[in-house]
Amino acid sequence: MKTIGLLGGMSWESTVTYYQAINQGIKSQLGGLHSAKLLLSSVDFAEIERLQHAGDWAATGTILSDAAQVVEGAGAQGLLICTNTMHKVAEQVQAAIQIPLLHIADATAAALIRDGVHTVGLLGTAFTMEQDFYVGRLQAAGLEVIIPNSDQRALVHQVIYEELCQGKILDASRLAYLAVIDDLQSRGATAVILGCTEIGLLVNQTDTALPLYDTTTIHAHAAVEFMVSDYASTK
Ligand code: GLU
Repeated sequence: MKTIGLLGGMSWESTVTYYQAINQGIKSQLGGLHSAKLLLSSVDFAEIERLQHAGDWAATGTILSDAAQVVEGAGAQGLLICTNTMHKVAEQVQAAIQIPLLHIADATAAALIRDGVHTVGLLGTAFTMEQDFYVGRLQAAGLEVIIPNSDQRALVHQVIYEELCQGKILDASRLAYLAVIDDLQSRGATAVILGCTEIGLLVNQTDTALPLYDTTTIHAHAAVEFMVSDYASTK
């Protein structure tokens, strides 16, 4: 199988999910004792978060580009940035390496389009919900994107940084998120993107009848497909 490189720690709570999901995917594809060949570079999220909120995206891009070069140098053949928000600097990171970056929004858009979804709600950080690097990419793929109103966006953003990225999973916040999801549905969304890699820790498909597209799971699945493409069993 190919070796995948992960840029994690943003937050580490969701990097755990990536590690499990990629290994589970390899196990289900290859069976037996197979496990994922992966290289993880995990950054200090406090440093990244401070730069994000200061608007110094170039500095975050330098940190992630350096980390990407480390995993490439160690043998990674493809790269995942294990957060939606940090795809803000995906082009900068891709320019620093030779191996392909598997973009989380592209994998998500492909899953939605495959399922015939056209109008989709988006939950994520304020950066992800409000900026063109993410919404524009979904639109370019042919999707109509509905984002929460400004009060709802503030709530969704705050829960991500003050709770989910710190491992706090609160029932009150789950209910608040479900109310936002209901509202997106009433505004025309026929599915909702969990566009932050920690949201799946709070809300999952058992909580609502509206189809949810968890970007962590989708991105991990895309990694597994990449890793096993051209795989010849040596059993
Ligand atoms: N993991 C989150 C995301 O998918 C938020 C943390 C971050 O800012 O990177 O966007």
